[in-house]
Amino acid sequence: MRTTMRTHACGDLRSGDAGATVTVCGWVGHRRDHGGVTFIDLRDRAGAVQVVFHPQDAPDAHAAAQRLGAEDVVRITGAIRARPAGMENPDLATGEVEVAATTLQVLNASETPPFPIEDRIEAGEDLRLRYRYLDLRRPEMTKVLAMRAQIVRLMREHMDGAGFVEIETPILTRSTPEGSRDFLVPSRLWPGTFYALPQSPQQLKQLLMIGGQDRYYQIVRCLRDEASRADRGFEFTQLDVEMSFVTEEDLIALIEPLYARIVRETVGAEVATPFARLTYAEMMTRYGTDKPDLRYGMELVDLAPVFAETGFNAFATVLADGGAIRALSAPSAGSFSRKELDRLIDDTKGRGAAGLVWIAVEAAGAVRSPVEKFLSPVEIAGVLEHTGAAEGDLVCIVADREDRANVALDGLRRDLAGRLHLIPDDAWAFCWMVEPPLFEYSDEEDRWVSVHHPFTAPASEDLEPRSARSRGYDLVLNGFEIGGGSIRIHDPAIQRKVFEILELTPDQTEEQFGHLLRALALGAPPHGGIAMGVDRLVMILAGKDAIRDVIAFPKSQSGTDPLTGAPSPVDDVQLRELGLALTAESETDRGSGSAREG
Ligand code: ASP
Repeated sequence: MRTTMRTHACGDLRSGDAGATVTVCGWVGHRRDHGGVTFIDLRDRAGAVQVVFHPQDAPDAHAAAQRLGAEDVVRITGAIRARPAGMENPDLATGEVEVAATTLQVLNASETPPFPIEDRIEAGEDLRLRYRYLDLRRPEMTKVLAMRAQIVRLMREHMDGAGFVEIETPILTRSTPEGSRDFLVPSRLWPGTFYALPQSPQQLKQLLMIGGQDRYYQIVRCLRDEASRADRGFEFTQLDVEMSFVTEEDLIALIEPLYARIVRETVGAEVATPFARLTYAEMMTRYGTDKPDLRYGMELVDLAPVFAETGFNAFATVLADGGAIRALSAPSAGSFSRKELDRLIDDTKGRGAAGLVWIAVEAAGAVRSPVEKFLSPVEIAGVLEHTGAAEGDLVCIVADREDRANVALDGLRRDLAGRLHLIPDDAWAFCWMVEPPLFEYSDEEDRWVSVHHPFTAPASEDLEPRSARSRGYDLVLNGFEIGGGSIRIHDPAIQRKVFEILELTPDQTEEQFGHLLRALALGAPPHGGIAMGVDRLVMILAGKDAIRDVIAFPKSQSGTDPLTGAPSPVDDVQLRELGLALTAESETDRGSGSAREG
């Protein structure tokens, strides 16, 4: 860390340096005076060290230290000495030493910062993002960014070692369907036309395989204009991979050791390989989701057989309508208070299900439930038998359309695992989801759409939209999807067939995908690939709740950048050059200006 301005980084000083004269630079943290002696914490990226200004030993420096304010940038020369016995700070890596300052130079005074630079910062999101550079001075942010860099380095090392070539693909490109909205960039030279920012380099990486490049990777930024959430933003970074002459097994064998190594080197845990592999159908049956958290049990159970002949109207109607009755048993939740139970019901309704029926198991198979009087003893016994619920447990039943019941029970399972402390610390549960459906019906678009993307190969000749499975796979970690890919279609006839099922007219197909179809017909090798998300992985490994916490300059939840004020209006000259005119509506919408004021 030595530079022309300093000999050491503050955070690197240790007791072994005692006696040395050092020059350090950094930001002034907390300042305090004790019996005429002034102490400051001096902080740089490596950490903080205590600096002591003694009025007798260094009167000028001591006097100057009196005038220091928080976040002033200073350069200090002094001797490293061991702290007096009993004054060590075990919470600080440099806690055994201090710098006895002889000179103090203020390199740049700071105005009073809008919030203190501390890890347990209380400032609101907008303020933190507006002053992100101050936020980044927090040790926690430094740690997270370093972990992120480490993960990306491990990815590069792994891919280079496996014979992959890093190849860049353009940012100004043509729309490729990944099921999201594109960010568009108007072309000045071709007025009225637009580039799309890549939702992924999907088609380009396939074209690289057709171009004989055999093994491609790229750590690449992708952009999707969809509502941002805690675990997803407009832009994200992925390890993008494509390889030729492969099956699913090759991709899985490539990725598993990389992830085992990432976990080992970042959080120091061992994960066993091979990872579990579950089909989509099995995941939906057992967990109600295709990204199950396998760190705990509470698997879902089908109670339709128990209630096949039920006299309980609510259940009978659901079954008659072709719906599902599914349940889970929450260990030791039978003692939940009425209020807690009501909250479970509200949460279930909040997730779109009609409601929740709970049955608390008491001693000797007796139960307590708001619907107890509607259920026969045989049915109650059947519920207990199917769910395996024992004394003290709580059975949660959702009767609804199957998809709604699944969503509700998946949410319930995740919530309850947290509330009941069922999630072991430091558990890293990886699993592969395989054999997903090839298509799903979009009510919104009133047609079949691809579950992954339209280039995904079908698992069999069967292209019947209702039943076709694909050769796709997702990697799931602790209940989050952290990557996914597929073996691709390399036969142009099958690719055309898929476009037909997606209801693209021949003209649309030619317009949008003619280039790809021509390439597939000119010697496309069998190929497949995957894209592994970086942001979400760092979020999980760093124990954060939001990907904003693991990105240096994230957007706010509403998609703005409070720091620079993006997105912002552009002037009329720029618009004219692009051949664009704003509608009256968008003029009003944008109000007084940029997102910074908004
Ligand atoms: N293009 C896909 C995505 O970004 C991944 C893949 O199929 O390789 O999600």
